[in-house]
Amino acid sequence: MLATPRREMTVSIPLRRDNGDVELLTGHRVQHNLSRGPGKGGLRFSPHVNLDEVRALAMLMTWKCALVDVPYGGAKGGVNIDPRGYSVSELERVTRRYTSEIMPIIGPEHDIPAPDIGTDEQTMAWMMDTYSVNKGHTVLGVATGKPLGLGGSLGRTSATSKGVVDIAMAALTFRGFEAENATAAVQGFGKVGLDVARFLSEAGVRVVAVTDQYGGVTLESGLNIEKLAIHSAGCGTVVGYPGAWPISNEGILECEVDLLVPAAVEGVLHEGNAGRVRARIIVEGANGPTTPGADEILQKSGCLVVPDILANAGGVVVSYFEWVQANQAYWWNLQEVEGRLSARMRLAWDNVVSYAAAEGLSLRLSATCLAVDRVSTAHLLRGLYP
Ligand code: NAD
Repeated sequence: MLATPRREMTVSIPLRRDNGDVELLTGHRVQHNLSRGPGKGGLRFSPHVNLDEVRALAMLMTWKCALVDVPYGGAKGGVNIDPRGYSVSELERVTRRYTSEIMPIIGPEHDIPAPDIGTDEQTMAWMMDTYSVNKGHTVLGVATGKPLGLGGSLGRTSATSKGVVDIAMAALTFRGFEAENATAAVQGFGKVGLDVARFLSEAGVRVVAVTDQYGGVTLESGLNIEKLAIHSAGCGTVVGYPGAWPISNEGILECEVDLLVPAAVEGVLHEGNAGRVRARIIVEGANGPTTPGADEILQKSGCLVVPDILANAGGVVVSYFEWVQANQAYWWNLQEVEGRLSARMRLAWDNVVSYAAAEGLSLRLSATCLAVDRVSTAHLLRGLYP
Protein backbone atom coordinates (compact mmCIF):
# COMPACT_ATOMS: atom_id res chain seq x y z
CA MET A 1 0.00 0.00 0.00
CA LEU A 2 2.85 2.39 0.80
CA ALA A 3 4.43 1.79 -2.60
CA THR A 4 1.29 2.72 -4.53
CA PRO A 5 -0.40 6.13 -4.72
CA ARG A 6 -3.80 6.29 -3.07
CA ARG A 7 -5.35 8.48 -5.76
CA GLU A 8 -4.27 9.98 -9.09
CA MET A 9 -6.05 12.47 -11.29
CA THR A 10 -4.98 13.50 -14.79
CA VAL A 11 -6.82 16.38 -16.43
CA SER A 12 -6.82 18.16 -19.77
CA ILE A 13 -6.39 21.90 -19.57
CA PRO A 14 -7.51 23.77 -22.69
CA LEU A 15 -5.85 27.18 -22.76
CA ARG A 16 -6.91 30.08 -24.95
CA ARG A 17 -3.67 31.91 -25.73
CA ASP A 18 -3.61 35.70 -25.89
CA ASN A 19 -3.53 35.50 -29.73
CA GLY A 20 -6.72 33.41 -29.83
CA ASP A 21 -5.07 30.02 -30.49
CA VAL A 22 -6.17 27.12 -28.29
CA GLU A 23 -3.56 24.84 -26.73
CA LEU A 24 -4.20 21.64 -24.79
CA LEU A 25 -2.08 21.09 -21.68
CA THR A 26 -2.07 18.15 -19.28
CA GLY A 27 -2.15 18.38 -15.49
CA HIS A 28 -1.82 15.81 -12.70
CA ARG A 29 -2.54 15.66 -8.99
CA VAL A 30 -1.32 12.59 -7.13
CA GLN A 31 -2.21 11.82 -3.52
CA HIS A 32 0.31 9.22 -2.44
CA ASN A 33 -0.92 8.63 1.08
CA LEU A 34 -3.71 10.10 3.21
CA SER A 35 -3.47 7.95 6.34
CA ARG A 36 -2.15 10.70 8.64
CA GLY A 37 -4.24 13.55 7.26
CA PRO A 38 -4.96 15.53 4.10
CA GLY A 39 -2.52 15.44 1.21
CA LYS A 40 0.16 18.11 1.13
CA GLY A 41 2.53 19.00 -1.66
CA GLY A 42 3.53 21.55 -4.25
CA LEU A 43 2.25 22.34 -7.72
CA ARG A 44 4.94 22.33 -10.39
CA PHE A 45 4.75 24.08 -13.78
CA SER A 46 7.46 22.56 -15.95
CA PRO A 47 7.63 21.25 -19.53
CA HIS A 48 9.14 17.99 -18.18
CA VAL A 49 6.29 17.15 -15.78
CA ASN A 50 5.00 13.61 -16.14
CA LEU A 51 2.87 11.33 -14.01
CA ASP A 52 5.79 9.20 -12.78
CA GLU A 53 7.71 12.26 -11.57
CA VAL A 54 4.61 13.57 -9.78
CA ARG A 55 4.11 10.16 -8.14
CA ALA A 56 7.69 10.08 -6.87
CA LEU A 57 7.47 13.63 -5.51
CA ALA A 58 4.14 12.84 -3.82
CA MET A 59 5.71 9.86 -2.06
CA LEU A 60 8.64 12.00 -0.91
CA MET A 61 6.11 14.41 0.63
CA THR A 62 4.51 11.54 2.57
CA TRP A 63 7.83 10.76 4.25
CA LYS A 64 8.78 14.40 4.80
CA CYS A 65 5.46 15.27 6.47
CA ALA A 66 5.61 12.15 8.65
CA LEU A 67 9.20 12.79 9.68
CA VAL A 68 8.51 16.31 10.99
CA ASP A 69 5.21 15.00 12.36
CA VAL A 70 2.80 17.35 10.65
CA PRO A 71 -0.66 15.76 10.30
CA TYR A 72 -0.55 15.37 6.53
CA GLY A 73 -0.19 12.74 3.90
CA GLY A 74 1.85 13.32 0.76
CA ALA A 75 0.66 14.76 -2.56
CA LYS A 76 2.04 16.61 -5.56
CA GLY A 77 0.72 18.31 -8.68
CA GLY A 78 2.12 19.27 -12.04
CA VAL A 79 1.21 20.88 -15.34
CA ASN A 80 3.35 20.36 -18.45
CA ILE A 81 3.99 24.00 -19.25
CA ASP A 82 7.10 26.17 -19.41
CA PRO A 83 5.82 29.26 -17.58
CA ARG A 84 8.52 31.47 -19.14
CA GLY A 85 6.79 31.18 -22.52
CA TYR A 86 3.40 32.43 -21.32
CA SER A 87 1.91 35.80 -20.30
CA VAL A 88 0.64 36.43 -16.76
CA SER A 89 -2.98 36.28 -17.89
CA GLU A 90 -2.34 32.98 -19.72
CA LEU A 91 -0.79 31.53 -16.55
CA GLU A 92 -3.78 32.74 -14.57
CA ARG A 93 -6.16 30.96 -16.98
CA VAL A 94 -4.12 27.73 -16.78
CA THR A 95 -4.06 27.86 -12.98
CA ARG A 96 -7.79 28.52 -12.69
CA ARG A 97 -8.79 25.79 -15.16
CA TYR A 98 -6.43 23.27 -13.51
CA THR A 99 -7.81 24.16 -10.06
CA SER A 100 -11.37 23.84 -11.23
CA GLU A 101 -10.63 20.41 -12.79
CA ILE A 102 -9.00 19.01 -9.64
CA MET A 103 -11.53 20.65 -7.29
CA PRO A 104 -13.23 17.36 -6.40
CA ILE A 105 -10.07 16.10 -4.70
CA ILE A 106 -8.55 19.24 -3.10
CA GLY A 107 -9.64 21.32 -0.10
CA PRO A 108 -8.45 22.15 3.42
CA GLU A 109 -9.49 18.70 4.67
CA HIS A 110 -8.54 16.83 1.49
CA ASP A 111 -5.37 18.05 -0.17
CA ILE A 112 -3.57 21.38 0.17
CA PRO A 113 -1.30 22.54 -2.69
CA ALA A 114 1.67 24.91 -2.31
CA PRO A 115 4.16 26.54 -4.72
CA ASP A 116 6.96 24.52 -6.31
CA ILE A 117 9.15 24.96 -9.41
CA GLY A 118 7.52 27.41 -11.82
CA THR A 119 4.73 28.50 -9.48
CA ASP A 120 4.65 31.16 -6.75
CA GLU A 121 2.44 32.94 -4.25
CA GLN A 122 0.39 34.54 -7.04
CA THR A 123 -0.41 31.05 -8.38
CA MET A 124 -1.63 30.08 -4.90
CA ALA A 125 -3.77 33.25 -4.69
CA TRP A 126 -5.47 32.28 -8.01
CA MET A 127 -6.00 28.70 -6.79
CA MET A 128 -7.50 29.88 -3.52
CA ASP A 129 -9.77 32.35 -5.34
CA THR A 130 -10.97 29.79 -7.90
CA TYR A 131 -11.76 27.26 -5.19
CA SER A 132 -13.48 29.88 -3.00
CA VAL A 133 -15.63 31.32 -5.81
CA ASN A 134 -16.84 27.83 -6.66
CA LYS A 135 -17.59 27.06 -3.00
CA GLY A 136 -19.38 30.36 -2.52
CA HIS A 137 -17.23 31.52 0.39
CA THR A 138 -13.59 32.31 1.12
CA VAL A 139 -11.52 29.20 1.92
CA LEU A 140 -8.06 30.34 3.00
CA GLY A 141 -6.93 26.85 4.02
CA VAL A 142 -7.10 25.34 0.51
CA ALA A 143 -3.52 26.33 -0.39
CA THR A 144 -0.39 27.46 1.41
CA GLY A 145 2.42 29.70 0.27
CA LYS A 146 -0.15 32.42 -0.36
CA PRO A 147 0.78 36.14 -0.29
CA LEU A 148 0.85 37.80 3.15
CA GLY A 149 -2.11 39.97 2.10
CA LEU A 150 -4.22 36.85 1.50
CA GLY A 151 -3.69 34.59 4.49
CA GLY A 152 0.01 33.84 3.98
CA SER A 153 2.18 33.26 7.05
CA LEU A 154 4.98 35.44 8.32
CA GLY A 155 8.28 33.62 8.04
CA ARG A 156 7.23 31.33 5.20
CA THR A 157 9.59 32.58 2.50
CA SER A 158 12.65 31.97 4.68
CA ALA A 159 11.26 28.84 6.39
CA THR A 160 13.18 26.23 4.38
CA SER A 161 16.48 28.07 4.89
CA LYS A 162 15.81 28.66 8.60
CA GLY A 163 15.14 24.95 9.00
CA VAL A 164 18.29 24.02 7.06
CA VAL A 165 20.35 26.26 9.34
CA ASP A 166 18.66 24.95 12.52
CA ILE A 167 19.67 21.46 11.43
CA ALA A 168 23.15 22.57 10.32
CA MET A 169 23.82 24.15 13.73
CA ALA A 170 22.63 20.98 15.48
CA ALA A 171 24.89 18.88 13.22
CA LEU A 172 27.91 21.12 13.90
CA THR A 173 27.38 20.79 17.66
CA PHE A 174 26.84 17.04 17.28
CA ARG A 175 30.23 16.73 15.57
CA GLY A 176 31.94 18.95 18.17
CA PHE A 177 32.30 22.18 16.15
CA GLU A 178 31.64 25.64 17.54
CA ALA A 179 29.83 27.99 15.16
CA GLU A 180 32.44 30.73 15.60
CA ASN A 181 35.26 28.46 14.46
CA ALA A 182 33.36 26.64 11.74
CA THR A 183 33.57 27.18 7.97
CA ALA A 184 30.89 26.53 5.37
CA ALA A 185 30.34 26.41 1.60
CA VAL A 186 26.90 26.85 0.01
CA GLN A 187 26.07 25.69 -3.52
CA GLY A 188 23.09 27.62 -4.93
CA PHE A 189 22.18 31.21 -4.20
CA GLY A 190 18.43 31.11 -4.88
CA LYS A 191 15.40 31.00 -2.56
CA VAL A 192 17.08 28.44 -0.30
CA GLY A 193 20.85 29.03 -0.73
CA LEU A 194 20.93 32.80 -0.22
CA ASP A 195 19.15 32.72 3.13
CA VAL A 196 21.13 29.65 4.22
CA ALA A 197 24.35 31.59 3.62
CA ARG A 198 22.87 34.63 5.36
CA PHE A 199 21.62 32.77 8.46
CA LEU A 200 24.84 30.74 8.78
CA SER A 201 26.81 33.95 8.64
CA GLU A 202 24.51 35.57 11.24
CA ALA A 203 25.11 32.55 13.49
CA GLY A 204 28.85 33.22 13.34
CA VAL A 205 29.83 30.56 10.79
CA ARG A 206 32.45 31.71 8.25
CA VAL A 207 30.91 31.19 4.79
CA VAL A 208 33.99 30.82 2.61
CA ALA A 209 32.45 29.82 -0.74
CA VAL A 210 29.17 30.33 -2.61
CA THR A 211 28.15 29.38 -6.16
CA ASP A 212 25.15 29.69 -8.46
CA GLN A 213 24.53 28.17 -11.88
CA TYR A 214 27.08 30.49 -13.52
CA GLY A 215 29.97 29.78 -11.13
CA GLY A 216 31.00 31.16 -7.79
CA VAL A 217 33.32 32.97 -5.43
CA THR A 218 35.52 32.00 -2.50
CA LEU A 219 37.27 33.94 0.25
CA GLU A 220 39.20 32.26 3.07
CA SER A 221 38.45 35.06 5.56
CA GLY A 222 34.69 34.71 4.89
CA LEU A 223 32.32 36.31 2.38
CA ASN A 224 30.10 39.25 3.34
CA ILE A 225 26.75 37.70 2.41
CA GLU A 226 24.77 40.96 2.49
CA LYS A 227 27.15 42.60 0.03
CA LEU A 228 27.24 39.43 -2.07
CA ALA A 229 23.42 39.42 -2.20
CA ILE A 230 23.42 43.02 -3.46
CA HIS A 231 26.04 42.14 -6.08
CA SER A 232 24.03 39.08 -7.17
CA ALA A 233 20.77 41.06 -7.36
CA GLY A 234 22.48 43.61 -9.59
CA CYS A 235 24.46 41.25 -11.87
CA GLY A 236 22.17 38.20 -11.81
CA THR A 237 25.04 36.08 -10.46
CA VAL A 238 27.56 35.95 -7.61
CA VAL A 239 30.34 35.65 -10.23
CA GLY A 240 32.62 38.69 -10.34
CA TYR A 241 32.03 39.72 -6.71
CA PRO A 242 34.99 42.02 -6.01
CA GLY A 243 37.71 40.98 -3.57
CA ALA A 244 37.06 37.22 -3.81
CA TRP A 245 38.50 34.41 -5.93
CA PRO A 246 36.55 32.48 -8.55
CA ILE A 247 35.46 28.90 -7.82
CA SER A 248 33.52 26.46 -10.00
CA ASN A 249 30.46 24.42 -9.13
CA GLU A 250 32.59 21.28 -9.11
CA GLY A 251 35.26 23.03 -7.02
CA ILE A 252 32.91 24.12 -4.26
CA LEU A 253 31.94 20.50 -3.57
CA GLU A 254 35.59 19.69 -2.88
CA CYS A 255 36.30 22.67 -0.59
CA GLU A 256 38.08 22.01 2.71
CA VAL A 257 35.22 23.13 4.98
CA ASP A 258 33.40 21.85 8.05
CA LEU A 259 29.96 22.20 6.49
CA LEU A 260 28.82 21.86 2.88
CA VAL A 261 25.24 22.78 1.95
CA PRO A 262 24.22 21.75 -1.57
CA ALA A 263 21.17 23.98 -2.15
CA ALA A 264 20.85 24.04 -5.94
CA VAL A 265 19.90 20.96 -7.96
CA GLU A 266 19.73 17.18 -7.60
CA GLY A 267 22.53 14.69 -8.28
CA VAL A 268 25.52 17.02 -7.81
CA LEU A 269 27.33 14.60 -5.49
CA HIS A 270 27.90 11.39 -7.42
CA GLU A 271 30.32 8.46 -7.54
CA GLY A 272 32.68 10.51 -9.70
CA ASN A 273 33.31 13.23 -7.12
CA ALA A 274 32.19 11.90 -3.70
CA GLY A 275 35.70 10.56 -2.99
CA ARG A 276 37.10 14.09 -3.28
CA VAL A 277 34.66 15.70 -0.83
CA ARG A 278 36.57 17.12 2.14
CA ALA A 279 33.62 18.59 4.10
CA ARG A 280 33.00 16.94 7.49
CA ILE A 281 29.25 17.51 7.35
CA ILE A 282 26.85 17.74 4.41
CA VAL A 283 23.39 19.18 5.02
CA GLU A 284 21.13 18.62 2.01
CA GLY A 285 19.31 21.89 1.35
CA ALA A 286 18.34 20.73 -2.16
CA ASN A 287 16.16 17.71 -2.85
CA GLY A 288 18.24 14.67 -3.81
CA PRO A 289 21.69 16.28 -4.22
CA THR A 290 23.48 13.00 -3.32
CA THR A 291 23.17 9.89 -5.50
CA PRO A 292 22.97 6.50 -3.71
CA GLY A 293 26.50 5.64 -4.93
CA ALA A 294 27.91 8.88 -3.52
CA ASP A 295 26.05 8.31 -0.27
CA GLU A 296 27.86 5.02 0.23
CA ILE A 297 31.28 6.59 -0.44
CA LEU A 298 30.58 9.50 1.95
CA GLN A 299 29.32 7.12 4.61
CA LYS A 300 32.57 5.14 4.43
CA SER A 301 34.70 8.28 4.58
CA GLY A 302 33.05 9.33 7.85
CA CYS A 303 31.30 12.41 6.45
CA LEU A 304 28.00 13.09 8.24
CA VAL A 305 25.25 13.42 5.63
CA VAL A 306 21.98 14.97 6.84
CA PRO A 307 19.26 13.89 4.37
CA ASP A 308 16.95 16.23 2.48
CA ILE A 309 13.71 14.92 4.04
CA LEU A 310 14.99 16.18 7.38
CA ALA A 311 17.17 19.13 6.40
CA ASN A 312 14.81 20.99 4.07
CA ALA A 313 11.50 20.18 5.78
CA GLY A 314 11.19 23.69 7.28
CA GLY A 315 9.10 24.84 4.30
CA VAL A 316 6.41 22.24 4.85
CA VAL A 317 6.41 22.90 8.61
CA VAL A 318 5.59 26.58 8.07
CA SER A 319 3.08 25.62 5.36
CA TYR A 320 1.40 23.61 8.09
CA PHE A 321 1.49 26.67 10.37
CA GLU A 322 -0.09 28.75 7.59
CA TRP A 323 -2.91 26.20 7.23
CA VAL A 324 -3.46 26.12 11.01
CA GLN A 325 -3.60 29.94 11.15
CA ALA A 326 -5.96 30.10 8.14
CA ASN A 327 -8.30 27.48 9.59
CA GLN A 328 -8.42 29.32 12.93
CA ALA A 329 -8.45 32.80 11.34
CA TYR A 330 -5.88 33.79 13.96
CA TRP A 331 -2.42 35.03 12.95
CA TRP A 332 0.86 34.49 14.75
CA ASN A 333 3.77 36.93 14.87
CA LEU A 334 7.16 36.16 13.34
CA GLN A 335 8.73 35.12 16.65
CA GLU A 336 5.97 32.57 17.24
CA VAL A 337 6.37 31.11 13.74
CA GLU A 338 10.17 30.91 13.92
CA GLY A 339 10.20 29.62 17.51
CA ARG A 340 7.76 26.82 16.70
CA LEU A 341 9.66 26.00 13.48
CA SER A 342 12.98 25.67 15.33
CA ALA A 343 11.41 23.53 18.04
CA ARG A 344 9.98 21.10 15.47
CA MET A 345 13.20 20.91 13.46
CA ARG A 346 15.24 20.24 16.63
CA LEU A 347 12.81 17.56 17.74
CA ALA A 348 12.98 15.83 14.35
CA TRP A 349 16.79 16.05 14.48
CA ASP A 350 16.89 14.52 17.99
CA ASN A 351 14.57 11.69 16.92
CA VAL A 352 16.62 10.89 13.82
CA VAL A 353 19.95 10.97 15.68
CA SER A 354 18.68 8.81 18.57
CA TYR A 355 17.14 6.24 16.25
CA ALA A 356 20.32 6.15 14.13
CA ALA A 357 22.43 5.55 17.24
CA ALA A 358 20.09 2.89 18.64
CA GLU A 359 19.82 0.96 15.37
CA GLY A 360 23.30 1.61 13.98
CA LEU A 361 21.95 3.40 10.89
CA SER A 362 23.01 6.36 8.78
CA LEU A 363 20.95 9.51 9.31
CA ARG A 364 19.31 8.97 5.89
CA LEU A 365 18.20 5.46 6.70
CA SER A 366 17.13 6.49 10.19
CA ALA A 367 15.01 9.39 8.86
CA THR A 368 13.40 7.18 6.22
CA CYS A 369 12.69 4.37 8.70
CA LEU A 370 11.12 6.76 11.20
CA ALA A 371 8.92 8.30 8.52
CA VAL A 372 7.82 4.98 7.02
CA ASP A 373 7.16 3.64 10.49
CA ARG A 374 4.88 6.57 11.37
CA VAL A 375 2.85 6.10 8.19
CA SER A 376 2.59 2.33 8.54
CA THR A 377 1.56 2.71 12.20
CA ALA A 378 -1.29 4.99 11.10
CA HIS A 379 -2.32 2.41 8.48
CA LEU A 380 -2.31 -0.43 10.99
CA LEU A 381 -4.25 1.55 13.58
CA ARG A 382 -6.89 2.51 11.05
CA GLY A 383 -7.18 -1.03 9.75
CA LEU A 384 -8.55 -2.09 6.38
CA TYR A 385 -12.00 -0.86 5.37
CA PRO A 386 -13.35 -3.85 3.49
P1 NAD B 1 15.92 28.57 -6.94
O1 NAD B 1 15.57 28.38 -8.38
O2 NAD B 1 15.43 29.76 -6.21
O3 NAD B 1 17.54 28.58 -6.77
C1 NAD B 1 18.35 27.60 -7.34
C2 NAD B 1 19.82 28.07 -7.26
O4 NAD B 1 20.64 27.04 -7.79
C3 NAD B 1 20.13 29.32 -8.06
O5 NAD B 1 21.10 30.08 -7.39
C4 NAD B 1 20.73 28.76 -9.36
O6 NAD B 1 21.62 29.68 -9.98
C5 NAD B 1 21.46 27.56 -8.83
N1 NAD B 1 21.66 26.51 -9.83
C6 NAD B 1 20.79 26.11 -10.78
N2 NAD B 1 21.34 25.13 -11.52
C7 NAD B 1 22.56 24.91 -11.01
C8 NAD B 1 23.61 24.01 -11.32
N3 NAD B 1 23.49 23.14 -12.33
N4 NAD B 1 24.72 24.05 -10.54
C9 NAD B 1 24.83 24.91 -9.52
N5 NAD B 1 23.89 25.78 -9.19
C10 NAD B 1 22.77 25.78 -9.91
O7 NAD B 1 15.48 27.22 -6.23
P2 NAD B 1 15.26 26.96 -4.66
O8 NAD B 1 13.83 27.15 -4.32
O9 NAD B 1 16.32 27.71 -3.91
O10 NAD B 1 15.53 25.39 -4.59
C11 NAD B 1 16.83 24.84 -4.47
C12 NAD B 1 16.71 23.38 -4.07
O11 NAD B 1 16.06 23.29 -2.82
C13 NAD B 1 15.89 22.49 -5.02
O12 NAD B 1 16.44 21.20 -5.00
C14 NAD B 1 14.52 22.47 -4.37
O13 NAD B 1 13.77 21.30 -4.74
C15 NAD B 1 14.93 22.43 -2.91
N6 NAD B 1 13.87 22.85 -1.97
C16 NAD B 1 13.36 24.11 -2.03
C17 NAD B 1 12.40 24.51 -1.11
C18 NAD B 1 11.86 25.90 -1.09
O14 NAD B 1 11.14 26.25 -0.14
N7 NAD B 1 12.17 26.75 -2.07
C19 NAD B 1 11.93 23.58 -0.14
C20 NAD B 1 12.48 22.30 -0.10
C21 NAD B 1 13.46 21.96 -1.03
